[in-house]
Amino acid sequence: MADTKESMFGCVVVKIASRCNINCTYCYMYNKGDETYLSQPKKMSDEVVDTMLQRVRYHCLKHGIEYFRFVLHGGEPLLTGKDFIRTFVKKARRVLLPDTKPVFSIQTNALLLDQEWVALFKELGIHVGISIDGVKEVNDEYRVDHQGKGTYDRVVAGIQQLHDFNADKAPKEQVHPGAILVVNPDSDPVEAYHHFKELGLKAIKPVLPDYTYEDLPENFDPEDTTHTPFGDWLIALFDEWFQDQENQIRVSLFKEIIELLLGSESGTDTVGNDEVGVIVVETDGGIETVDALKVCGHGFTKEGLNVLQHEFDESLDTSLAGMYFMSKKQLCNQCQACPVNEICGGGFIPHRYSRKNGFNNPSIYCYGLMKLMTHIQGRVLGQFPKALLEESGIEILTFEKAYQMLQENLQQNPAEATYAPLLESFGQP
Ligand code: SF4
Ligand code: SF4
Repeated sequence: MADTKESMFGCVVVKIASRCNINCTYCYMYNKGDETYLSQPKKMSDEVVDTMLQRVRYHCLKHGIEYFRFVLHGGEPLLTGKDFIRTFVKKARRVLLPDTKPVFSIQTNALLLDQEWVALFKELGIHVGISIDGVKEVNDEYRVDHQGKGTYDRVVAGIQQLHDFNADKAPKEQVHPGAILVVNPDSDPVEAYHHFKELGLKAIKPVLPDYTYEDLPENFDPEDTTHTPFGDWLIALFDEWFQDQENQIRVSLFKEIIELLLGSESGTDTVGNDEVGVIVVETDGGIETVDALKVCGHGFTKEGLNVLQHEFDESLDTSLAGMYFMSKKQLCNQCQACPVNEICGGGFIPHRYSRKNGFNNPSIYCYGLMKLMTHIQGRVLGQFPKALLEESGIEILTFEKAYQMLQENLQQNPAEATYAPLLESFGQP
């Protein structure tokens, strides 16, 4: 469990709306077995906002946090309306400044975007993230509305609102959104990359779909080292991005992996070995662990804490939040023996879940991740002169070599599963 005296987080995902104007079939909020949203208020109340901000202030002062990030999230956060967002940001600044500087971002499906929304984001300094999976056929496979109709045309119309806003503005006055896309291994990653460029997006964040050992992607076997469609897709995207000399867009996942390969120690909840510093507050004030854990079962993230009664640090005493905070350090036997674990960190926590072992598993995407990490290492180190690599004793690791090392390490030194009891406590045999 995390040591509450030392642990802290610097980011809260604020579920200001608990419903959505569309109904993506892969959505962990609504379509993966967790129905707790039905008992959540549709919108966060003023009382919850005010109390949460006071808790954030106390947390930041206690831990000396200089910058604190609010991710305005849902459901669809724009359903709360412009007045709500304006008031939220103003209150947060009033409560936190000057001791802590609040930073704001919003993740939207873009369907409701208009000129007033974009002007508001600019006025309030809110970074905008848009969810779109790729070209029309790819996006519309899963990102559909409540009538089952694809949303691509409406998302692109939303992105156009941003471009229209920027058209007569100086660069400093413009708003440039990033995009989150869920990897679809049946799609073409090279086409996707160029499509995002054509849409004028400056940054993209590919994420793996949220599955567990209890609910695996179709035709996918996590034990199969030869069939790694998700890793292969990311590798093809990386190659296109890496060789793109002209107007390259930012791909946060690749940037983070390269920084880790070059010695950075910071990470995220998907890569690296750092402590994870994010917590979720639901519309009713419930303090929860990362929302994607909802794929583990109905009510999985509910631990009975609420900003109306509890300080944030108390959440670190709950087993799930404590486990999540340390999830990139507390690894199963296989990950402890893995030669790329300092880069991979065992993958994103929901992808490790099985009823039998809890989180004491490698990611279901393990071998794809291992291929991705070794591939990026090879491409990046391949830029260096061979003599320099030899002199520094740095070895380029292929997937085959990494896999062989993993097997040897497992045989020679069966790793001490230091954290196994904690991780296994989430199993429900
Ligand atoms: S836009 Fe987001 S919250 Fe809404 S259904 Fe799609 S994935 Fe879920
Ligand atoms: S590549 Fe696989 S074994 Fe290695 S750290 Fe990642 S999930 Fe664990």
